[in-house]
Amino acid sequence: MSETTTANKETRGFQSEVKQLLHLMIHSLYSNKEIFLRELISNASDAADKLRFQALSNPELYQGDADLGVKLSFDKETKTITISDNGIGMTRENVIDHLGTIAKSGTAEFFSKLSDEQTKDSQLIGQFGVGFYSAFIVADAVTVRTRVAGAASNEAVQWHSEGEGEYTVESIEKASRGTDIILHLRDEGEEFLSEWRLRDVISKYSDHIGIPVFIQTEDRDDEGKETGNKKWEQINKAQALWTRSKSDISDEEYQEFYKHVSHDFAEPLVWSHNKVEGKNDYTSLLYIPSKAPWDMMNRDHKSGLKLYVQRVFIMDDAEQFMPSYLRFVRGLIDSNDLPLNVSREILQDNKVTQSLRNACSKRVLTMLERMASNDAEKYQTFWKQFGLVMKEGPAEDMANKEKIAGLLRFASTELDSAEQTIGLASYVERMKEGQDKIYYLTADSYAAAKNSPHLEQFKAKGIEVVLMFDRIDEWLMNYLTEFDGKQFQSITKAGLDLSKFEDEAEKEKHKETEQEFKSVVERIKGYLGDRVKDVRTTFKLATTPAVVVTDDFEMGTQMAKLLEAAGQAVPEVKYIFEINPDHALVKMMSDEADEVAFGRWVEVLLGQAMLAERGSMTDPSQFLGAMNQLLTKV
Ligand code: ADP
Repeated sequence: MSETTTANKETRGFQSEVKQLLHLMIHSLYSNKEIFLRELISNASDAADKLRFQALSNPELYQGDADLGVKLSFDKETKTITISDNGIGMTRENVIDHLGTIAKSGTAEFFSKLSDEQTKDSQLIGQFGVGFYSAFIVADAVTVRTRVAGAASNEAVQWHSEGEGEYTVESIEKASRGTDIILHLRDEGEEFLSEWRLRDVISKYSDHIGIPVFIQTEDRDDEGKETGNKKWEQINKAQALWTRSKSDISDEEYQEFYKHVSHDFAEPLVWSHNKVEGKNDYTSLLYIPSKAPWDMMNRDHKSGLKLYVQRVFIMDDAEQFMPSYLRFVRGLIDSNDLPLNVSREILQDNKVTQSLRNACSKRVLTMLERMASNDAEKYQTFWKQFGLVMKEGPAEDMANKEKIAGLLRFASTELDSAEQTIGLASYVERMKEGQDKIYYLTADSYAAAKNSPHLEQFKAKGIEVVLMFDRIDEWLMNYLTEFDGKQFQSITKAGLDLSKFEDEAEKEKHKETEQEFKSVVERIKGYLGDRVKDVRTTFKLATTPAVVVTDDFEMGTQMAKLLEAAGQAVPEVKYIFEINPDHALVKMMSDEADEVAFGRWVEVLLGQAMLAERGSMTDPSQFLGAMNQLLTKV
């Protein structure tokens, strides 16, 4: 810190994340230069919103003493653009906090994960939200002069930086409340020193903004000649977008507004704008993004809608209006029923909140259903981005469980692909005659699921099985017990019974074989003792000699692995060992008269089954020893 000529002037270093952001931004957004205007106008409009909000509890701050608005001007001589607002302004502390650091946690991690290739991707950096710092795309120096609402006399702060690691803050005087942002343009930014260029960009980015945005223009006489004077010309309608009628709003305006509320660069997939009167009186405008925010899975990910009450902005990230599994939804809600002095605490257990939350959830689910049935490709885009989050739904939102289940997508044996494209409704349509259950299999990976021995009899009988291999799936299936009146059945559970798909002759034959194998089963039991829960003959396998399954009410393998990975103490899973009497290896085993050699066969077959089921075995050396002994006999 250095005290120089001006009172209170100090030089400070940017947080290292800011330096990284500045660097990446300048290198990835050169083809998207104009967005700095969107970001800065957006901030100015937020500053007006915040002023109105604070004035609710502190009327001194704003008594309608000036019309809130944003003014843009440029100067060809000095090569500067100035964006001025008369909103909330910032204190010295605010300036240091907001324009020197990035508050979002996980930022450093995000940057460190980006590869060189990715840093050139404007979508990625856009996803992060560049905000104020986007000024440096076109400017090689930025000056901010700001006076906070309610400041004594003319006390204000000036922030200045050349974007290279340091900035200065100093006390200055400023005649009026609000913030001026002065961009000293670099050569590449000079295209914006044109009234027509600016006008074009600003109208695109400000149409939906609720306060007037002005541009300084040359005054002209009746013949169109410049008079040498300047005047302010309003560029936008200055009516908050959601208060306008749907038929008056173009798709482009909805899309621009989305970028304003979400800080996203990409277009939204779909949106839904509704005015509701009656029991509740509110407007909602909800968007489904096309890309997941980089920190969606972080615990402290900020989510939620913007909340307005009677058109006054109240808060960002009001997460009370959306359940957590819909945390990717962006947009706003403008209520006429909530009090203006509503706080997060009041929202927490409030009847109005509850009923708006239900209505908004339903609306989002309906929007998704519509997308799924109208545009499968778009829905696939959605699913790839947000499928994992949607899978949290059935556990969180009991009331909408069936709707959510209908929106889930999985891989299945129907298609030879790891892509999750199959909905449960289409599974049900393809169910075989007499089939009353939805069969599924959970595994560590698509490959493990697809090649699971448990699938053999399903393949033989032509019955489709849903294949699940996301970590969350096992947990999801604790909550998802039925869909469309059909129960889910894990195919690795002992209770699985496909006998209804067999004819009488087949059943008769199975009974006989089972009888013949009784003594072999008893021998295996005698050898294994309590290492397994039970041993039995199975007819569900074709090319695999043996498998293990778990009892219906016991914890399954995937669930046990999930809990183990989370560091929880999990009771040992006791498996039922099932052998395939038609398999050549099983026949060799049963023909073995020597008890020691018989034991080796059991070790090898059980070891294989465990490996297929768990991807690991408790005692590999015992398995390998037994196998090698058998091999030397060949
Ligand atoms: P974001 O708007 O996403 O929070 P920004 O980098 O654009 O991120 O801005 C950081 C913060 O700086 C804002 O949240 C706000 O508190 C403050 N800020 C930026 N511009 C203004 C402004 N014109 N008036 C008042 N505060 C501002």
